[in-house]
Amino acid sequence: MADQNNNVPLLDINRDNLPHRDEFVEALAAVVDSGRFLFGPDVVELEREVAAYSEVDNAVGCASGSDALLLALMALNIGPGDEVIVPSFTFFASVSCITRLGATPVFVDIRPDTFNIDVDKIPEAITEKTKAIIPVHLFGQCAEIDRICQLACEHDLPVIEDAAQAIGAAYHSRPAGSWGLIGCFSFYPTKNLGGMGDGGMMTSCDAATADRLRLFAGHGMRPRYYHQVVGINSRLDTFQAAVLRVKLKHLPAAVEARSSIAERYGRMLTEENLVDQDAITLPTHDANAFHVWNQYAIRVAGGRRDALRAHLAEHGVGSEIYYPVPMHQQECFTYLQADRTRLVETERASEEVLNLPIFPSLTESEQCRVIEVVADYFANAANKVAA
Ligand SMILES: *Cc1c(COP(=O)(O)O)cnc(C)c1O
Repeated sequence: MADQNNNVPLLDINRDNLPHRDEFVEALAAVVDSGRFLFGPDVVELEREVAAYSEVDNAVGCASGSDALLLALMALNIGPGDEVIVPSFTFFASVSCITRLGATPVFVDIRPDTFNIDVDKIPEAITEKTKAIIPVHLFGQCAEIDRICQLACEHDLPVIEDAAQAIGAAYHSRPAGSWGLIGCFSFYPTKNLGGMGDGGMMTSCDAATADRLRLFAGHGMRPRYYHQVVGINSRLDTFQAAVLRVKLKHLPAAVEARSSIAERYGRMLTEENLVDQDAITLPTHDANAFHVWNQYAIRVAGGRRDALRAHLAEHGVGSEIYYPVPMHQQECFTYLQADRTRLVETERASEEVLNLPIFPSLTESEQCRVIEVVADYFANAANKVAA
């Protein structure tokens, strides 16, 4: 039986939020008193602050990261007959935005080291029907966005960055969401900038694109009751914006805490020689990337991943598998008949990836406990990797 006091959660949002409780309550009370629940001043301010933080000229709030992606494709007039390049090793929303508009996702395999889209495999996926590329900055680390944008530019294709997990991340010191034509962010509570409900934002350096995104997010209505295009209703509400403004102030410190935790995992899992080095692979940090560690993703080879995860659960240590089923193997996407032989690394990642607890208020002793339980699993002779 797990000792309750030794339990380590995968995530403890309450503990992360607790130090800022008074700030949240004050900000929320101000919204209650203002009565401006939509389009309140906090929304405008948050858009400015996220734009500044991401070093772009424009930011447009919306209801979720999923909507941000959908609106980006709507603003680009993507529809039936169009193809959009996207990784299969991602969250559903990176792909559903494409199919929802009647367009076709074309899956490109990932790099085995970073789990991000393999840029070298993008050219063979480009056809005359290709209308956009959606790289995903998975787990808080940018894909090779410089090379992706270069390639896209050569083919005259817009890049939409799925930066849902990567606010504050950067590549060659340039922020996630500032490289492509449109950057998409999520404020889902588990993201690095997480609200107390749903929320999202789109960034663009191009004012006309930002204006179109805003038009589509507001029923395509401009002026009032005159509809130029068929948009959707997707708003970031003032309550969320008020909470997010408080959290944005503390985001750099939270990222620093996540980085320290990642560094400590790296040290503990290697130096102390507690864990069989052939059995697990630590996350690769691309030297050009500023990683914001939304997730700490290890690989567990040799079919031991699920057993290790069960062992962790049995001893009260939370873990998760992001993601167990790649998009091309989802029931709803079987009709796409994706070529699995081109998605070998994607499928291998889904079989091997294991995400360990990482959140700003995770303590060193909790991390020690995680390592202890991992080491304990591999100490069992039956779980050792054959030499
Ligand atoms: C969370 C996430 C989304 C969707 O964001 P929501 O705000 O939950 O709609 C999209 N893409 C990726 C990679 C995500 O992790």
